[in-house]
Amino acid sequence: MRKDVEIALQRLEGFEEPSASLEQYETPAPLASRLLHLAWSRGDLDGWVLDLGCGTGVLGVGAALYGARVVGVDVDSDALRTARHNAESAGVGEKTDWVRGDVGSVPVRQVDTVVMNPPFGAQKRGADRPFLRTAESVADTVYTVHNQGSRSFVESFVEGEITDAFEARIVLPHRFEFHDEEAREITVEIYRLSST
Ligand code: SAH
Repeated sequence: MRKDVEIALQRLEGFEEPSASLEQYETPAPLASRLLHLAWSRGDLDGWVLDLGCGTGVLGVGAALYGARVVGVDVDSDALRTARHNAESAGVGEKTDWVRGDVGSVPVRQVDTVVMNPPFGAQKRGADRPFLRTAESVADTVYTVHNQGSRSFVESFVEGEITDAFEARIVLPHRFEFHDEEAREITVEIYRLSST
């Protein structure tokens, strides 16, 4: 299943014109499928899932392939259009909704699980904070991606506990980094937060 999801996610379309200020980049398929496989094995993809800052829908489409009913929210309507297209082409159009909204006012009250790869705050310091706040306010279980070394900040910031964590290497597009580098490989940390 994990390999099938990874292959399906690999085929999705990315951002047409990625915005640096919104820190738009797609979660790589191997990382997304690993995160989702963990979520599935914990029983966290059985109900409703919010993909917060969904971008082109990698995490949400993957969650739907694992059986979840998904709502994706993003401020960028171009990205939402691509997410909708991606969901259709992956065969999960009917299990997903893609809605425009800001992280501070999501049109969702309560879901079972949030999956997100929020802005790391490379462009705007603290940009991940409203994501953590909103995620915890709508769900007891949250999967979230942060840059390496964020654990103590996340632990002190959230109400819940980190119950699971793993690391992954990803290649960040050069637009987030200094212009003398084409792209840069960084280590990210993935946490499962639980407040039950
Ligand atoms: N979840 C996607 C995209 C990650 S990039 C994936 O895993 O591939 C971060 C996303 O957060 C971008 O799509 C960006 O448009 C969105 N975003 C940034 N600021 C936001 C805000 N204030 N409210 C909602 N979405 C936001």
